[in-house]
Amino acid sequence: MPRFDGGRFPLATDLRSGRHVHACGASIPSSACSSATPTTGPMTQKPSLSGIPPRKLESILAPLPRYRAVQVFSWINSGVDSFEAMNNLPLALRRELDGHFCLRKTTLIKKLEDGNGAAKLQIGIPGGMVEAVILVDGAGRRTACLSTQLGCAMGCVFCRTGLMGLTRNLDSAEITEQFYHIRKFYPDIANIVFMGMGEPLLNLSELRRSLEVLCRTMSPRRITVSTCGLVDGIESLAGEGPAVRLAVSITSAREELRRRLMPVSDANPLRRLKEALLRHQWRHGRRITLEAVLLGGINGSTEDAYAMAAFAEGLDVVVNLIPWNPVDGLCFEGVPLKEPSIAELGHFCSELEKQGLKTVIRREKGRNVCGACGQLGSVVNKDFTL
Ligand code: SAH
Ligand code: SF4
Repeated sequence: MPRFDGGRFPLATDLRSGRHVHACGASIPSSACSSATPTTGPMTQKPSLSGIPPRKLESILAPLPRYRAVQVFSWINSGVDSFEAMNNLPLALRRELDGHFCLRKTTLIKKLEDGNGAAKLQIGIPGGMVEAVILVDGAGRRTACLSTQLGCAMGCVFCRTGLMGLTRNLDSAEITEQFYHIRKFYPDIANIVFMGMGEPLLNLSELRRSLEVLCRTMSPRRITVSTCGLVDGIESLAGEGPAVRLAVSITSAREELRRRLMPVSDANPLRRLKEALLRHQWRHGRRITLEAVLLGGINGSTEDAYAMAAFAEGLDVVVNLIPWNPVDGLCFEGVPLKEPSIAELGHFCSELEKQGLKTVIRREKGRNVCGACGQLGSVVNKDFTL
């Protein structure tokens, strides 16, 4: 992907002399400069400075002094979308930065409101569009739900994003900018969850970069990464952090059924998944969320509750029970999926509780805009090549 990464600020103005200074240190008059800035694709000719962790930003902006990079980072992370607004930087420097970089490589296309507090933003990225969601709980606290991939390769049978297949990973700028777009409308975001489009642990390096940035504005305790259960990725978070919360889409703890619903289980069996979760919990000490999408007539029996309890033994978990959100055309082994009945939901919940599992039913807001779990899809511009 053509993007500016790893280099240094190619031409920084030496503010004392009014000359440009190359990264190599050579000094040349401004008039002699032609932009050597790499391009990022058709949406912008300049690389974005968003989504870049502070230390990396320092090296990109060198030879500017470190405190300037710190100032630029804190402006970016406060959500400003123009260099002009960075009013503690000298005007000449703001212009210089503006000549080489941009602060957004994504654009807000549309905001759709659910009518009950939830909303969905459609965000244009080079080559397509991703969706980010704003959820609101009973106490009025808002959560930003971010996407990490355009589509998803994991093919869970109940999920609309899975139906799309994977187009590409999002980079750290495209991930963090979703948060900035959301915060423009909702400055009071209390939590971030990576539960939008895609599988975060299949995009681990860009996820980590975006977490390094976002953890500067939000405590890692208020950030949750949701995975379909990729053992290597969980081990990596356990070993190297960051110590964000983890949610695992278990769906069913009956191995054979889980394999039919979630192809990821073939290479990531429940025994190995549990070992990785134990290590993560031992290392970071955070309660883990087990997400169980309840599919009408499929995974809500007493036997399913026993299996879930056996899986959870020894772990500190809460089970999030999510009644399946309808997606047209999705079938399980030839039979159209359906929502669970109220009775089925109540039965499964009480069976889980009888087994001693703390269980929360997550009734989704956002359905009116197809913004609830598993309903996110996207438009992909097939003509665009990265
Ligand atoms: N790929 C990650 C995160 C994105 S999916 C993961 O699988 O965890 C976020 C959540 O949406 C997962 O818990 C998934 O099980 C759930 N989900 C997917 N499709 C759904 C649907 N149609 N209704 C309700 N929840 C769904
Ligand atoms: Fe991908 Fe998660 Fe959907 Fe499965 S549930 S297809 S992992 S986005």
